[in-house]
Amino acid sequence: MSYVIVGSCVNDAVCTEVCPVDCIQPSPEARDFAHAEMLYIDPDACVGCNACAEACPVNAIYRIDQLPAQWAAYPEINAAFFRQGAKREPA
Ligand code: SF4
Ligand code: SF4
Repeated sequence: MSYVIVGSCVNDAVCTEVCPVDCIQPSPEARDFAHAEMLYIDPDACVGCNACAEACPVNAIYRIDQLPAQWAAYPEINAAFFRQGAKREPA
């Protein structure tokens, strides 16, 4: 079950340090990190371990089937980031 980052993300990248499959992007090492409005989870790579949700200091990460209605647009927003080819670009 994939997890989703929502609009209350504050870009502190804490979640990138705990993800076992490195599917939260852009990471601080990525070229586009400095310009990112928030971070995003790759729905195809996420293994649903919950580590990111436990680590997030502002509760900006939800399991997709537990997403509050106010964030309903965010599964698509997360997935769209990876379709743009922005994944894991070198610094
Ligand atoms: S649930 Fe686990 S695998 Fe999925 S983004 Fe969070 S830390 Fe990574
Ligand atoms: S830990 Fe939470 S606030 Fe920090 S980058 Fe990840 S989703 Fe955003």
